[in-house]
Amino acid sequence: MTAMTLDGHLGTKVAIDVCATCQAFWFDRLESLQLSAGSTLKLMKFIGEHSSPGKPSLPDPLRCPRCATTLRLAHNMQRNMPFTYWRCANDDGHFIGFLEFLKEKNFIHPLSSEQIKELRQNVQFVNCSNCGASINLESDSVCSFCHAPISMLDMKQPQRMLEQLKQAADPRPMDPALPLKLASAKLQLETSLADFGRSPEWWSDASSSGLVQAGLNAVARWLSEKLVD
Ligand SMILES: [Zn+2]
Ligand SMILES: [Zn+2]
Repeated sequence: MTAMTLDGHLGTKVAIDVCATCQAFWFDRLESLQLSAGSTLKLMKFIGEHSSPGKPSLPDPLRCPRCATTLRLAHNMQRNMPFTYWRCANDDGHFIGFLEFLKEKNFIHPLSSEQIKELRQNVQFVNCSNCGASINLESDSVCSFCHAPISMLDMKQPQRMLEQLKQAADPRPMDPALPLKLASAKLQLETSLADFGRSPEWWSDASSSGLVQAGLNAVARWLSEKLVD
């Protein structure tokens, strides 16, 4: 695993570990709750740039990187979206897959039946974001292999985070060009939100890599290095 240092709330630093092979993060104790909005966006961008399709094969058993005990699978809910992670029984922290992290942060939601209908008019197959299997939209509205609903990245969430980022930057002395950069990022985000469904790039991403990855690719395109680094 690779160590990464991110900004937390109130000027703190949060150290996390990333494993690109397992497609997962390790957070010491409650560090995932202490991430600033900018750091959450940075991880979102990281996931977009480092995800590979399908489910990664994880070591069995998974061991705690701090105390080496076997991690236990845990279930939780974010709104009505279930997600899973592995926790250390000695409370050292938790290990969470990229997709599950996005669910925990409320970035993923299942498609409504209207959205599935709209999708069907544009593509026949999408890859399941949960297991990587191909879903035939002509006949199925959930994945026939893992039974996960067809889900996508909630495009409103990154926008809310940009707002928080703007507010967080307010009291601090900051780069005088930042308001302008934020305004242009927001404009780009809104423009892209309005027509993301029509972009040929988006539809081809959706059918080859799944809807979540298509959304992540779009977000990674919008977030400039300067904004989140
Ligand atoms: Zn442990
Ligand atoms: Zn599936």
